[in-house]
Amino acid sequence: MAKKHKFKAEIRQLLDILVHSLYTNREIFIRELISNSSDALDKLRFEQLRGGAFTKPEVPLEILIHTDEEARRLVIEDTGVGMTAKEVKDNIGTIARSGTSAFLGQVTKEQAKAAKADDKESRESHEDSVMENIIGKFGVGFYSVFMVAEEVVLTTRSYKPDSAAVRWRSDGLGTYEIEELDPKEESGEEGGGDAPPARGTRIEIRLKEENKEYASRWRVEQAIKTHSNFISFPIKLDGQQVNTTPALWREPKFKITPERYAEFFKFLTFDEKPPFETLHISVDTPVQFNALLFIPESGLDLQTLRREVPGIDLYSRRVLIQRGTKDLLPEYLGFVRGVVDSEDLPLNISRETLQENLVLNKIGQSLTDKLLSRLETIAKNDPARYDEFFKAQGQVFRLGYSDFRNRERYAKLLRFNSSHCDDEKGLVSLTEYKERAKEGQKAIYFVAGQSRAAAALNPHTEIFRRKGLEVLYLYDPLEEFALESLGKFDDFELLSVEKVDAASLESFESRDDAESPPAQPALSEEDTSRFNALLEKMKAILDDRVTEVRVSERLSTSPACLASPDGTMSSSMQKILRIVNQETSPPKRVLEVNRDHPLLRGLLKLYQHDPEDRHLKEVVEQLFESSLLLEGYLEDPHAMVARIQSLLERATEWQVEALPK
Ligand code: ADP
Repeated sequence: MAKKHKFKAEIRQLLDILVHSLYTNREIFIRELISNSSDALDKLRFEQLRGGAFTKPEVPLEILIHTDEEARRLVIEDTGVGMTAKEVKDNIGTIARSGTSAFLGQVTKEQAKAAKADDKESRESHEDSVMENIIGKFGVGFYSVFMVAEEVVLTTRSYKPDSAAVRWRSDGLGTYEIEELDPKEESGEEGGGDAPPARGTRIEIRLKEENKEYASRWRVEQAIKTHSNFISFPIKLDGQQVNTTPALWREPKFKITPERYAEFFKFLTFDEKPPFETLHISVDTPVQFNALLFIPESGLDLQTLRREVPGIDLYSRRVLIQRGTKDLLPEYLGFVRGVVDSEDLPLNISRETLQENLVLNKIGQSLTDKLLSRLETIAKNDPARYDEFFKAQGQVFRLGYSDFRNRERYAKLLRFNSSHCDDEKGLVSLTEYKERAKEGQKAIYFVAGQSRAAAALNPHTEIFRRKGLEVLYLYDPLEEFALESLGKFDDFELLSVEKVDAASLESFESRDDAESPPAQPALSEEDTSRFNALLEKMKAILDDRVTEVRVSERLSTSPACLASPDGTMSSSMQKILRIVNQETSPPKRVLEVNRDHPLLRGLLKLYQHDPEDRHLKEVVEQLFESSLLLEGYLEDPHAMVARIQSLLERATEWQVEALPK
């Protein structure tokens, strides 16, 4: 007896989206079902090679597809591992695949946006691109069949000996039925269908009227050729094999055109753009393997990588051992896609112990080596193209500071924005920086900031501009991690501008065209000692919020800045650590002031008149908080806004008083 069940809420929601979506590229359900079949066949082949017992070993491993235009029917069948009743219950209808909630969240958001479009056509095209993107990223698997199906009947028999066949049936509208077929009554009269498969899974689809095209042979053939041509099992459409492709990575390189590589890449990644770079590798010693690797043009960001490294498909003698293997390449090459096939990997390797496998480690090292070499070649022969790569994949690539074996090569492959380039044009390498460094320069300087403007506004960079010293601009916090962790590049130290002692830059001459400090007469001896007293007063006002107040050698146009005492971290590193440790108090720093700035000269006069002057106190507070603000540390702007208000009031009052009477 068939039992009726309700789909899990999350799946009902997913089905609802799929059934009602305006998405036009519906043929991808064929790709999804064939891909499930191929997985089931991969699993069976794996079992076969491990020598386990299974049902009907004489039945060949293949995918069989039948079309019936008149009946509006499409059948996709495989002779793979099939499913037991429990597996059907668990896999179809109950468990939502990983990524489903992310998928749902995104679709609902994007659909709401699409719904705002005025006319149906633009709604459709908007939704198309949204769904394309989302389905491409998450894949919706089996359920995608309900974009086109009125009813789906899935009949399956597990490869495990003596398994009963199971039938699952649904119209995708909220419920499904499941029944275990009695082996004695399996002849097929019941249900009006054929006998259940001897092993594997058959999916019978009754198509909706508006989707009847998928019961037409040529239409299905076209979809298979577009999306499933590289499936490694025969796909027979109405008795005729339609896919032809053997394992491309095992074919001799000279026989493969760029178009076929691109086609394979698309098959593997669903990425519409051709790969940025293709590496077809075959190695015999110390371990044998063939590999076909791609660097995609589309960038992978760190968040996506952290959620799901796409990984490499690992084969042993053409048998898939693991899809999306994450342990083969280091994380910083996580954007690389492709296939690795080795004769030296034991077939019965357990997926759990892959990580510790020595052969795999060797293959991984060799691939890392080859990928780095290829990047080096591109960087050397076509720097602009390398910049393109770096702009797309740099966020992930920067994680390479942890690859101790390849540190030097990694450091040379890094690229940066800097004071000496512009963001649109070329990036700067550490080698290039070094080559054009000033005579006597022993360090590579860098500053962190969210943008070019922010980096350039950082008061710490003023002295570098004045001296014409190049400063790397780091917009991504990871860049600073990378540089801090490298510590050195050849004999050059890597130094945050905040940590540079201005005195150490004295020997570099200032440029004539540099921003000149506002002209101020030199201080008399008496004023100099009074200025020192002012500094003490400032320290007293700020109390333990700063470790010291001192005269700055680095400032030109800014009145003050916060500096890191020697041996401490730069402000952006501290910020990262504060986020990690959930700390809230800002780190204590040195307040440096520009003695030649008109503001400071004014304060000196106020101080001379009355050390307890209220305005003096407010200005010092404000100078400090402005510096905090510039560094992104200001926690509560309320006090600051109130203070600015009072300063403005007073300034306006004075301005009015100074009006000609
Ligand atoms: P995914 O394939 O990404 O896991 P699906 O929703 O497409 O998600 O399928 C869910 C599960 O159902 C699969 O992981 C697999 O265990 C099982 N399954 C689907 N199709 C088949 C099939 N043709 N043969 C055997 N098992 C299948």
